Amino acid sequence: ESIGTLASGVAHEINNPVQGIMNYAELISESPGASVEIREYASEIDRESQRVATIVRNMLAFSRQEGERGARPTTVQKIIEGALSLIRTVLRKDQIGLSIAIAEGLPELCCRQQQIQQVLMNLVTNARDALNARFSDFDERKRIEIRAESFLREDRTWIRLSVCDQGGGVPDSVVPQIFDPFFTTKGRDQGTGLGLSVSHGIVTEHGGELQLENRPGVGACFDVELPADGSGVEARRREASGGDESEES
Ligand code: ADP
Repeated sequence: ESIGTLASGVAHEINNPVQGIMNYAELISESPGASVEIREYASEIDRESQRVATIVRNMLAFSRQEGERGARPTTVQKIIEGALSLIRTVLRKDQIGLSIAIAEGLPELCCRQQQIQQVLMNLVTNARDALNARFSDFDERKRIEIRAESFLREDRTWIRLSVCDQGGGVPDSVVPQIFDPFFTTKGRDQGTGLGLSVSHGIVTEHGGELQLENRPGVGACFDVELPADGSGVEARRREASGGDESEES
């Protein structure tokens, strides 16, 4: 709970000045008198600030103070649409195909929608990076598959959201580290190493599991498994409030 408060406090404090820095960088690069060199410095400032903004966004997504403390029922369609709305154009530009298969008759999923969307976005972004690293141009295999299905576990209905790619998978030597905060195999411009650790945190907070089905040399599939009734989130909130259910409303 304290870490959540701290993370959201820091994230909000950092967000405003960073936005200011990015605005000024833009003003500099657009000012008529700016030389090529100055413009280059300004775009470097912008790039580095974007990086800070990404880290802050991830911290906010992880912290519980993001405005939606409780879980609410929503549909898997809405979650997937919400996650893709931000990234669809980028995928098209990279010539990455997208296929979405949602099983019929899925129950609603009780969750913090923003957070689960963030998880899907992180997974799709990773799939995209892996595909772009493997295929520079169009390729039949350059596609991301998103699947949603339900299953029973210990008499409860769960929902599994899978994001799969054929971007070569995760090398065996790297697998033990991928969920570590700040672990990345990408260049400084590309990776913060927070995507999977934040996603893992969010899914665990929901009482679910985030798993990797890896085929080194072929591709990776990340499965997000969540109890459909949101009972994981509720249980954790009760723990956090010392078991006092009157604070639940
Ligand atoms: P980042 O994407 O910023 O590097 P992540 O925590 O999201 O941070 O991922 C950590 C590492 O896990 C990546 O740098 C990459 O090596 C590996 N990884 C994650 N997703 C995939 C994927 N779909 N295919 C191959 N490797 C992956």
